[in-house]
Amino acid sequence: MSLLSIVLPAYNEEQNIANTAKVLGELLEQHGIDYELVFISDGSKDGTFERIKEESARNPRVRGAEFSRNFGKEAGIFAGLELTTGDAVIVMDCDLQHPPEVIPQMWEKWQQGAEIVEGIKADRGKESLGYKLSAGLFYKIMSKLIKMDMNASSDFKLLDRKVVQVLLELPERNTFFRALTFWAGFRTETVEYEVQERKYGQSKWSFWSLMKYAITNATSFSTLPLQLVTIMGGVSILFSVILAIQTLVRYLMGTAVEGFTTVILLILIIGGFIMLSLGVIGHYIARIYEEVKGRPKYIISHVTENVPGTAVGSW
Ligand code: UDP
Ligand code: MG
Repeated sequence: MSLLSIVLPAYNEEQNIANTAKVLGELLEQHGIDYELVFISDGSKDGTFERIKEESARNPRVRGAEFSRNFGKEAGIFAGLELTTGDAVIVMDCDLQHPPEVIPQMWEKWQQGAEIVEGIKADRGKESLGYKLSAGLFYKIMSKLIKMDMNASSDFKLLDRKVVQVLLELPERNTFFRALTFWAGFRTETVEYEVQERKYGQSKWSFWSLMKYAITNATSFSTLPLQLVTIMGGVSILFSVILAIQTLVRYLMGTAVEGFTTVILLILIIGGFIMLSLGVIGHYIARIYEEVKGRPKYIISHVTENVPGTAVGSW
């Protein structure tokens, strides 16, 4: 019988762990699916890992690990993948905003031969206007940059063991799980779902954290910003040439003093472009620097007793 692993990254989710484990357990048993739940506490400051240990003691199908500090959801997902043993793995949020009812549909598509089943958001649910604006902007920028429709994708997906293996073997530190499954290829099916409201706890995203996430992922997944810098340089040179001709003509006509405005404008425009370009290049250098250091994506400080090997360390 095939085993389904579910990876659940959790940051300060003490109110959600028990309920999520219960809901998932009941659903999967009802559908006769053999399962394991892998919770990763992403350096939570509340009792998240204690709740995970309690669940694990109650139900041996529940396992988990705790990070030494907050490494971010991406790291949580990858640590979770590393700890799974299933033939298929589903990654989902542990606040049940990704509706569990979709899991049997994903499982069925996998049994029929799909190697990736992407969860596609039908609706973002009733979130705040601020959230909609920031998330909307984020997906728009990302879709343009990596030339994939990010609106359609989410972190809710099923992966065949083969795909999990491919993702785990990627050498890079800055991963973008959502887009990496597109990059990997494989036989892909989709399932639509509606984003549910969060019952307990709070969302961990703010406008600025989303912007940071967008810039990090854009620079680790696309070189388009670097090409844009070149294009902007070209445009500003063209602009300067036009202004230069104008200034020269004025000089020849004897009305050159007015050119003072032009000089100030030019300095501002060129200065602006140079700063922006340096910023973009700086982001790439930061990415390269992080990759070159080769530090692990995350550090595990504790694991539940039923984690095989029980080696505490970093991967
Ligand atoms: N999460 C995480 N590490 C973080 C932030 C979030 O593991 O640094 C987890 C969080 O516990 C949840 C999932 O990622 O299971 C999605 O986060 P959240 O619900 O805050 O985001 P939203 O649903 O509002 O987009
Ligand atoms: Mg959520």
